[in-house]
Amino acid sequence: MAEKGSISIHAQNIMPVIKKWLYSDKDIFLREIVSNACDAIAKYKMLASSGQAQAEESYAVNIVADEEKGTLSVSDNGIGMTADEVRKYIAQVAFSGAEEFLKQYKPSEGENGGIIGHFGLGFYSSFMVSDEVSIDTLSWEEGAQAVRWVSADGMEYEMEPSQRTQRGTTVTMKLSEENHEFLHLHQLRETLEKYCAFMPVPIYLSVIEPPKAEEEKSEEEKGEEKPAGEKKPEQVNETNPLWMRRPGEVTDEEYREFYHKVFHDYRDPLFWIHLNAEYPFNLKGILYFPKLENEFTASEGVIKLYNNQVFVADNIKEVIPEFLMLLKGVIDCPDLPLNVSRSFLQNDGYVKKMAAYITRKVADRLVNEFNTRREDYEKYWRDIHPFVKYGCIRDEKFFDRVKEAILFEKTSGGFTTLKELEDKGETVYYTSDAKRQAHLIAQYTSQDKDVIVLDTLIDNNFISFLEFSGKEQNLKFQRVDASTEGLTEEGETDEAARASLEEKFRKALDDKELEVKLTRFKSDDLPATITVDEQSRRFTDMSRQWGGGFQMPEHRTLTLNEKHPLVKYLISAEEEGDITQMVCRQIVDLCEMARQPLVADRMVDFLNRSNKLLTMLAEK
Ligand code: ADP
Repeated sequence: MAEKGSISIHAQNIMPVIKKWLYSDKDIFLREIVSNACDAIAKYKMLASSGQAQAEESYAVNIVADEEKGTLSVSDNGIGMTADEVRKYIAQVAFSGAEEFLKQYKPSEGENGGIIGHFGLGFYSSFMVSDEVSIDTLSWEEGAQAVRWVSADGMEYEMEPSQRTQRGTTVTMKLSEENHEFLHLHQLRETLEKYCAFMPVPIYLSVIEPPKAEEEKSEEEKGEEKPAGEKKPEQVNETNPLWMRRPGEVTDEEYREFYHKVFHDYRDPLFWIHLNAEYPFNLKGILYFPKLENEFTASEGVIKLYNNQVFVADNIKEVIPEFLMLLKGVIDCPDLPLNVSRSFLQNDGYVKKMAAYITRKVADRLVNEFNTRREDYEKYWRDIHPFVKYGCIRDEKFFDRVKEAILFEKTSGGFTTLKELEDKGETVYYTSDAKRQAHLIAQYTSQDKDVIVLDTLIDNNFISFLEFSGKEQNLKFQRVDASTEGLTEEGETDEAARASLEEKFRKALDDKELEVKLTRFKSDDLPATITVDEQSRRFTDMSRQWGGGFQMPEHRTLTLNEKHPLVKYLISAEEEGDITQMVCRQIVDLCEMARQPLVADRMVDFLNRSNKLLTMLAEK
């Protein structure tokens, strides 16, 4: 007679909830069942190594999908379970982790599993995809009776003796109609690749296809005598992944190969860090610095988190410092309490320490690269700087540690360090676009002043951070179009001339805000420049960057060079004249173009006007 029972009261509350919400991450059931099988084998191995049980020649987990029967089974030759153990471990589940989690998280409609999937729900996750789940198991204990346990809904079960003679467990899931995708080779491969690719016991997969009807067979298949095709089982995992090995034993080639394979990135990583800590916490992993595109927002990294070689999730923000998300890598942390809610992880001291440790290792490695392989480091810098800068802004401790390895590229070639800039204590001139602003840059470089290149999205924030981070450094950054300071000669200029120029430019441009100044430039070949106050420009840039609709009007100043013939001409030119107006507009457009692209309408105007001026010149 079969024993009947019902699974603990918790299950009745939670089963429907789990079923309802888990559909997006339901593939997680396979991870749970396969990792249970691996655990069972690990336990048996332990018994064998301590002499309590006889060692097995080989250990394996076998996954068999039978398309015709609609079943997926997972077998192991691990420790097995006695009837008592089945009652205790399977039937009296305490869904504490999951229950607590669901209570806190309460996903709303539409916002399904995404997060739940990160947390193991154990054996019961099999009911998400099955109409019936059975366990056939024989314990390693001497004289144990094999048992078969069956449940259709995860709430009521039946258990009876089984004929099984091999030690170990087979979990067979009769998949519900809508989950038959998990009988197909490619779906299974994909899921196993995701969750089980590095589990520590060999995992074999085979699919039994239903026999084909005669008319469905291909020409070659027709003659064959082969019955329904059970293909040769294929091993789907690597049991000794790179991160578990000792850093000294792994070659560069192996690191690169692992990277290509796991992250599907055909490019080589720039460099990597092999984390290998046993104290104060157990943590292993490899972090790669990928070759990034310049605009760092476009490329997202992947940090895969493992728990004893079992994949848990990608990019868990609570564990990995946010700015490290630009890296690609694996982190294996067996002690991490993953069966808990995210808010727990956020507040967990252990997790915090771990994140700090990873951050420290990354900073130290960068400084080490800087000190020992400066030439290579300078080459990488273009790829890694957005990430380093972002990290500095996000985490002062990271900034303090990595500070000495922060570089700035000079327009004249080569690099300068943050420290060198600080030591100089002068205004730091920079360009956001070395090509477009070349003419302005030349005004500085011709006076032997360095101009550095700050042309990524993060730079605006980064320099503001450096200026205002409350540290003792007295750095001031100024874009080449922010001021004419240092470019002009001392001395008074003619106020009457200035006022007349102002009048002419206002008329020509219909711009009441433009401030007009008259001065003498050190350079003779520059008739005028337009400057925009550094802070107000940065503010505009940032609000544009964050998509803010709010725009502060920029304060623009047109500074004219009294020494230049064109300016001399304008001073004495007729106020209302067509040519006067054209020249004024042309000067202003040229100044603007040297700073930033013109908007479309203005570009059209500019080109038409230029052609008109040329025609006039030619017809003269
Ligand atoms: P967890 O694995 O988190 O403990 P599960 O619900 O997945 O939770 O499993 C409950 C228990 O059932 C396991 O701890 C283990 O003792 C037992 N068990 C599950 N699967 C197997 C298996 N394949 N072989 C032996 N014991 C198993």
